[in-house]
Amino acid sequence: MPAVNYRPDGDVVVLQIDNPPVNALSLAVREGLTDGLRRAAADTAVKAIVVAGARGSFAAGADINEIASGLVLKSPITREIQAQMEATPKPIVAAIEGAALGGGLELALACHWRIAANGAKVGLPEVKLGLIPGAGGTQRFTRLTGPEAALEAITSGAHLPAPRALELGVVDALADDVVGEAVRFARRVVQEKRPLRIASDVAERITGVNPEVFAAFRKKIEPKARGQLAPWRIIDSIEAACMRPKEEAFRLEREYFNECRDSPQREALVHVFFAEREARKIPDVPADVEPLAVRRVAVVGAGTMGGGIAMCFANAGIPVSLLDVTREALDRGLGAIRKNYAASVARGSLTQQRMDEALSLIRGVTEYEALVDADIIIEAVFEDLQVKKEVFANFERVAAAHAILATNTSSLDIDAIAATTSRPEKVVGTHFFSPANVMRLLENVRGTRTSPQTIATVMALGKTLGKVPVLAGNCDGFIGNRMLQFYGAEAEFLLEEGATPEQIDGVIESFGFAMGPLAVRDLAGNDVGYLIRKSRKLPPDERRSPLLQRLVEQGRLGQKTGKGFYRYEGRTRIADPEVLELIEGVSRELGIERREIDDREILERLLHPLVNEGARIVDEGIALRASDIDVVYVNGYGFPAYKGGPMYWAERAGLTHVVETMRRLAPSHGARWRPAPLLERLAASGQGWKGAQ
Ligand code: NAD
Repeated sequence: MPAVNYRPDGDVVVLQIDNPPVNALSLAVREGLTDGLRRAAADTAVKAIVVAGARGSFAAGADINEIASGLVLKSPITREIQAQMEATPKPIVAAIEGAALGGGLELALACHWRIAANGAKVGLPEVKLGLIPGAGGTQRFTRLTGPEAALEAITSGAHLPAPRALELGVVDALADDVVGEAVRFARRVVQEKRPLRIASDVAERITGVNPEVFAAFRKKIEPKARGQLAPWRIIDSIEAACMRPKEEAFRLEREYFNECRDSPQREALVHVFFAEREARKIPDVPADVEPLAVRRVAVVGAGTMGGGIAMCFANAGIPVSLLDVTREALDRGLGAIRKNYAASVARGSLTQQRMDEALSLIRGVTEYEALVDADIIIEAVFEDLQVKKEVFANFERVAAAHAILATNTSSLDIDAIAATTSRPEKVVGTHFFSPANVMRLLENVRGTRTSPQTIATVMALGKTLGKVPVLAGNCDGFIGNRMLQFYGAEAEFLLEEGATPEQIDGVIESFGFAMGPLAVRDLAGNDVGYLIRKSRKLPPDERRSPLLQRLVEQGRLGQKTGKGFYRYEGRTRIADPEVLELIEGVSRELGIERREIDDREILERLLHPLVNEGARIVDEGIALRASDIDVVYVNGYGFPAYKGGPMYWAERAGLTHVVETMRRLAPSHGARWRPAPLLERLAASGQGWKGAQ
């Protein structure tokens, strides 16, 4: 089968890319395009060319495996095909169905015109893999749309729906029968002898651009793009498109592309990309296990999490019943949902129509009988085993026989909850993160008796909801929170020994986390953290800090009381000498002599225990593989994706360093802080995490 079909249609030839599953621009496709273009150009009977894709999609981009290998691609590369297109004297029209993404869109941008299906989407998502579009994408896109739209679209990597692409000038027309319309359009152009429109020569929207545009945009994305390479190089490249001569700007784009391609950030982001794919594979749940169809959902508990979870389903177009014990609690929950949607409408990120559609899918109820038709019921009531058991007893009474019974618990024993029902094979944890309608991670937790179909269903649910699902085993804290205990505790020990909250959060934020551990505590509430801490039975020999308790006793609960590890003016945190006094008092009380602690020590003492516990989690089979932990931390805990996740990061830096840190900490911190046996083994043998498999 050729990777590009050559299909004459009268005096027009359709070059149809045919490379399942997504028409990636592999070498065979590139060769097929080059040959097809050459043949069509040479045939005098051919007056125009349409480039299209088979199976309802144009082309989803470069071959990811080629990018992953980081190699320089074999000729013809996309840039050579584009040059060939722009040198062809016959009109070339792209017919975009499905998706034209990355290299796929870059190819379409080198055609003279673009017709898109109404439901198609286009975009340059290279930034998500740490790259910039390297085949003229930043140049041609900018010339068609002007810099503002290009900056937004290419630094975010967003997929633009076809109507938006038309508005911006990326495509020239929308149609239902795209290929047919592209052929007719091409004929019209020939008849009218219309001059060919070469995007790389279009200049109206890049002429007289105010350089301030770029300075302002740099300032705007600083908080999000700090520490990363690709977004900045994208801005540089778009600026070059507007400010430099064409040839120089194209050359700069290539240089920036090469710089990004060769950077460790690109490697880390590609690792995360593959890790997310891999996480969906569960060895004892073969791909042929059919997930249950989820057509109706119920969520029980209309609090912070229940409301957010209900929104996730409504956003995916699935009707959801939301139950709370009293009318007041329910109304409060529904009110919060409405407010949340309204804020998105006010911000312009949601239309009023979409808000109304979503709200019409959420039905508030107070009677369990209303849940009889749900295919899955998700419990999100208080984190109290007794309360949850009572709620599950109600499920037992009303739920349809096929229904899955899920709990959003952050740490309770899934088996203990399952034991209250007669169908433990239907019971599973679906651990959403706050805010549930925003955070991408879905940590699914299997109990001892959870069935393969139940697991397959909640994993598939991740995809339906646009989330990244990871499967965890049942233990205190599952993957994410179990590791976090050590990170959180160590932050307090560092305070006792001489560090300040600003220093600790500063180190972690410079590393790339959105927020440091103490700022996070203040956000979640120190009372909440203290309660969780108290409920954990730590071994008697383990080091513990009284700091959190002291803060709570003094009413320093965090942002909600205006003071915690910091003082707050609105949401702005300010270092507070009172806290430092409190911390110094604790140091004195414990007989610890405060000392200067350097940033490197802070980073290692916070992150190495995280990795160490991660190794135990892999060894116990709680996580199926080390890379699942990276997926959890990148999508649920703010670990910078461009550093690949904690396990990847530690492997790159050398696992022996983690072992050394843990050997240093264990004598003062207790047995749980000893190096994990798996880690010691892998470090000694020089193997990475692959050795754990
Ligand atoms: P919340 O206090 O905001 O909401 C709990 C809701 O459950 C309240 O509306 C309450 O009226 C309702 N409720 C209590 N008992 C009930 C019952 N018997 N029947 C029906 N409704 C009942 O709590 P939350 O923060 O949304 O947490 C809910 C669950 O999600 C907990 O298990 C928690 O551990 C977990 N969780 C919370 C977060 C978070 O960041 N808040 C993150 C992940 C998981």
